[in-house]
Amino acid sequence: MPPKPDLKSIVAGIHADLAPRFGEGKVADYIPQLARVDPRRFGLAVVTLEGETFLAGDAELPFSIQSISKALMLTLALGRHGETIWKRVGREPSGSAFNSIVQLEAESGIPRNPFINAGAIVVTDTLLAGHTPREAIAEIVRFVRFLADEEGIVTDKAVARSEEATGDRNRALAHFMHSFGTLKHPVDHVLGVYFHHCALAMSCRQLAKAGLFLANNGRNPVTGHSVISSARARRINALMLTCGHYDGSGDFAYRVGLPGKSGVGGGILAIAPGHASIAVWSPGLDATGNSLLGSIALEMLANRAGWSVFGH
Ligand code: GLU
Repeated sequence: MPPKPDLKSIVAGIHADLAPRFGEGKVADYIPQLARVDPRRFGLAVVTLEGETFLAGDAELPFSIQSISKALMLTLALGRHGETIWKRVGREPSGSAFNSIVQLEAESGIPRNPFINAGAIVVTDTLLAGHTPREAIAEIVRFVRFLADEEGIVTDKAVARSEEATGDRNRALAHFMHSFGTLKHPVDHVLGVYFHHCALAMSCRQLAKAGLFLANNGRNPVTGHSVISSARARRINALMLTCGHYDGSGDFAYRVGLPGKSGVGGGILAIAPGHASIAVWSPGLDATGNSLLGSIALEMLANRAGWSVFGH
């Protein structure tokens, strides 16, 4: 076993090393409310399986988790519906942008994976089974609070409204899938719920806590809550590694070597199985729509702590 990393100085060191670069990248502006965020924000939180917490920068400031919610919603959907969801969504990297529509026609309305927008919209559709949109949103918020063991987590209504107002691309994806029968509920209902889980506001610390179960075979080691089976946790990690960064997934696996899920709000949740759950936030994005400095921070952390699913 390699020596236990000195996480306190590693986390502080990453913050100090990146400080001169804060503000790099391009903040997402296709959702107007996201464009209002200060690009110089930077937060990093590492929570170990022992519950030790290491924070740097704006780690306590809530931000829009956006597509990171897709990993949490997949967990909820697998818990409710089991493997049947794989009849409606695939498990292959898309090699395309997060909101691409091109593959859907060739593949009869079945999205490549649950982490591109089309796939997450299908997962959201499964969460509406037996629920009104309002009930589904309430269940989602309860679930995320349970994962993070924090009562204060809410959706940012202004962000949800902003997405609703500018969500033509997502509406196009949803209507297209509805025409194939991939969606069972009205498009407006599905997208209303989808926009709300993307609009969840969480701090890096809360997000890292929420991801702990993925680092510990499906059970939160701090609260003792069993979230999902170890087999499912392993598979969600596999999907995060192969599909969690859209068309930048291969590069993230190469550089960081950990399962991760990014969001256009500039956050990334990364999992070091057996060690820790990590959340980073820096709003500036790279050309593939992933946090530019967030990926670099995780690359530094994985190197300095010796954490990688591929060996030391
Ligand atoms: N809510 C965003 C959208 O649907 C999520 C995209 C992302 O975070 O990558 O466009």
